[in-house]
Order: sequence, then C-alpha cells, then structure tokens
Amino acid sequence: MFSAAVDRAGLERMAAQFAPAPLRVDTNRLSPGDRQALVKLIEAGHVIDDIFLEQLWSGNKALEKKLMTDRSPLGQARLELFQLYKGPWSDLDNHRAFLPDVPERKPLGANFYPEDMTREEFERWAPESAKGFFSVIRRDPKTRKLAVVPYSHVYRPDLERAAKLLREAAALTDNASLKHFLETRATAFLDDDYYASDIAWMDLDAPIDITIGPYETYNDELFGYKASFEAYVCLKDEAETAKLDNFTRHLQEVENNLPIDAVYRNPKLAASMPIRVVNELMSAGDGNHGVQTAAYNLPNDERVILKKGSKKVMLKNVQHAKFDGTLTPISRVVLPTAAQPNLSFDWFFTHILAHEISHGIGPHEIALNGKKTSVRLALKDLYSTIEEAKADATGLFMVQFFFDNGILKGGEANERKLYDTFLASSFRTLRFGIHEAHGRGMAVQFNFLTDHGAFVERPDGTFEVNYAKVKGAVRDLTHLLLTIEAQGDYAAAKKLLDQFGVLRPSMKAVLEKLKDIPVDIRPIFITADELTRNRQ
Ligand code: ZN
Repeated sequence: MFSAAVDRAGLERMAAQFAPAPLRVDTNRLSPGDRQALVKLIEAGHVIDDIFLEQLWSGNKALEKKLMTDRSPLGQARLELFQLYKGPWSDLDNHRAFLPDVPERKPLGANFYPEDMTREEFERWAPESAKGFFSVIRRDPKTRKLAVVPYSHVYRPDLERAAKLLREAAALTDNASLKHFLETRATAFLDDDYYASDIAWMDLDAPIDITIGPYETYNDELFGYKASFEAYVCLKDEAETAKLDNFTRHLQEVENNLPIDAVYRNPKLAASMPIRVVNELMSAGDGNHGVQTAAYNLPNDERVILKKGSKKVMLKNVQHAKFDGTLTPISRVVLPTAAQPNLSFDWFFTHILAHEISHGIGPHEIALNGKKTSVRLALKDLYSTIEEAKADATGLFMVQFFFDNGILKGGEANERKLYDTFLASSFRTLRFGIHEAHGRGMAVQFNFLTDHGAFVERPDGTFEVNYAKVKGAVRDLTHLLLTIEAQGDYAAAKKLLDQFGVLRPSMKAVLEKLKDIPVDIRPIFITADELTRNRQ
C-alpha cells in the first residue's frame, strides 16, 4: 500500500535524467505597458502552480511543506525531485513513488475524485454534470454521498487571485486581443464558463502570448474528464513567424509538386491550422512537471473547435533547450566526428515547422471502393504511425523543394546540415521506443533510408548521410507514404510497418550507448524570475 524510500544516489540519478536548461527571453521590444502586464502574468502563473499541486494529490501541499523543513542532503534531494514532478511519483516510471509514506502509485483519479471512490460507484451515480471538465467530485463526510463541486468553488481563493492579476494585466497592455482574452478568462475563472475566453484565445495575436486555464485531462486516469490547470507565459517569435508565413504562402506549390500521381493532389488546399511560434518565459502547473511540453494544440472544447478550429503553439526556446540538452550529446555518439559540426538547431527547428505544416497537405479525404472516406478511417490503428512518418518525410521533401526553388537559402552546406541533423535527431525519437506513433514512424524512415543507401553505417558504429542518395531516397519514401494514404491501403501500410517499423541490431547498439544521456530538460526561468524579483 505504502511506498518504500529511494536513497539519495537513486534520487540524484533520477534528477540527472533532466538537464538543467536556463530559459532567457529578450523582453526589450515590449511596450512599457506590456512589460508591466508581463510581470502580472508571471505572478498569475505562480498561482496556477499552487492550484495544480492541489489537483494532482490531496496530500501534496502538506508533503511539500514537510520536505521544505528537512535541510539534510537526502531531504534536499527529495524536495528537488518532488518539485520537478510536482508530486512524489515519477512520470518516467509509470507514476511510481520515490518518496516514503505515500501511496505506491499516483491515485488514478488524482485529487479530482474521492480516493476511495470506484469507477462502478461513479458510474452508478453520475449525473451528466459530474462528467464536465471544470468540477471535482467530493464525498459528503456525513452522508457519504457523492457531489459535484465546481472549480470556481474548490479553488476560489487561488482563482480570485489569478483573476485579479489577469484583470490588472488587461488594464496595462495596449494590445486589444490580449486585453479581451485576459478579461474573459478572468471571468471564466470565477464562473467556470470557458467558452467565450477560448474563442478569445483563438483570436489572440499579441507580442505577449499566453495560455492559462484548465485544459488537458491526462491526469484524470480514471475517466479523462477533469482538466488540469496550466499556464505558458511566452513572447511571440517574430522571425520564426515570418518564416512560417513564407512557408504557408508556398504551400499550394508544394502540394502541386508532391511526388505522387497527379490525380491525388489537391488543387485547392483548405486553410491550414494556425501555428504560433513563441519563446517561453515560464510554464506552470500541468505545463511544468516531468517531461516538458515543446508544443501544444488547444483548445479541447469541441464547440470551440467547430466554430474556430484549434491553434498550435510551438515553444521555440524549449525546443532549443531540448536540442542542447539531449540532441547535442546524442549526435556525438551517432554521427562521425567529421559530420558533428553540421548539427544545427536552425535546421532542426525548420524541419519541425515543415513537419507541422506537412500534416495539412497530402491526402486527407479519399475515395475507397467508390465511397468517400478519410485516410484516418481507412488506415485505422496504423494511421498515426503512417501520418507521423509522412509528416517527417514530406517535411524534408518540402525544405528541399524550398532550397531548389530559392524560397529558402540552400546550397551544399545547408543541405548537409539539414540531413545530418535529421539523422541524429531520429535517435532522439527512437529512444522513446517504437511502441508509439512517432517512434515507430521514425524506425520506418530510418530503415527505409538505410536500405536505399541514404544512411550508411560505418565500421565504428556511427551513421553517416550519403548526400548523393539522400534526396532521391526521401522522395521515394514520401511517394510511398503519400500513395498508401491516397489509396487508403491498409495492407500496404501493414506491410511497410512490419518490414521497417523495427529496431535492427545496429540501431539497438547505438541506443544502448545513449543510456546515460538526459531524457529531457528541467527549465530554469531566468528572465521570469528576474522580472518578478525586481518588483519586490
Ligand atoms: Zn506530427
């Protein structure tokens, strides 16, 4: 029932899986009003941390307080890991406890439901209102009956503090869309109606880019109903936004030149999902525990998605920190010495952008046996893996197309950087295993490109790119994946995954050598801390 303690060396090993990553963001271009608003929003982020601690486990706040009083090295190691995970359980180890005297595993229902409530009891009782995003279920201590309690009630003092900070920030900023979002979100904190502020968030276009509220439901492992509070306080990245606009402007050209039979090309692409590129000053709550979010896609409310679609936000400096903390050391194992200088964050990130917009091109609605259907329905359980591999391969094809057509500055040096960086980063993805779509999709690409001579294993166990063959091989791979999608060919997808979606011995040997490299990063919010400290 209760957990055993992990010793100090064990705790330190667990902490070392996360490379410290100082996050600095240049705030000099903000207007004076926005600079002041930013401080309020960072403070609101701290309130979100408090709420989330309470949401994850009923014992969290008391436990943190207790840990803070222990000044011994063991006590400090315990506190550090507790703060990293925002609880006594490791997300990398199936939520197993690393502290003594706590439940062995995170309760499935977190603190959204009474810990002694079973699924059956809930299902026997639950009115529709019990299944909403923004309420918890509590048990009356006397009658033992279950009851629905809205967030605005349970977290009232914290939400009032947060709402006040949002309103103060709204009064300070000179950007109308930010002002509108903050005002409507402050109202939602107190009445649990998030619709209007979700709409306002879709329209948000400001130098300060903020996401704050209850969103994802992953911590509710019992039913997936209840939303955890999180915040991302960021600044828009103007240069990357311009690059993205440039890609989007040429997207139809890419579609018209995709390496598939012309009948499968879409002569008129629909407007694609909006993408924002930002730099994070701070993340909080559900947005900052364990493995760090590098991009998110919100909102989740179907009513908002129907009316406005959804928006993808990419955290560029978080991606950069992950690149430095994990991909750079991986590349020293994977790439031969001569190729290591080619590892490039710019091309890493450009390919990520190309990957994201590649999801929007190629086949989506298709005809199968004379009937209209979608690639997703036709490829069923294999869809995500094929679609992720397609977005990677098409992303490479797209960047090469931009090189060849003068839309991006190419040349031999940049091409080498693009492909060498992609080769190294494939091991970053493969490390997470081939049991999920991104990892398995990467194995497909890696093995296909190897068998087509684009990636070559050297006698010392490193891999290199054959620059003469890689463009043709990427083109062939893109053709294959897009054709499987266009034809909704489940059997061909299955054959491809069986043949290539595997870890071969040479890949396993590399992965074995990556064991001690950090899995992720642990952000240190340098700029956010400076901004709030200066005020005190
Ligand atoms: Zn993707």
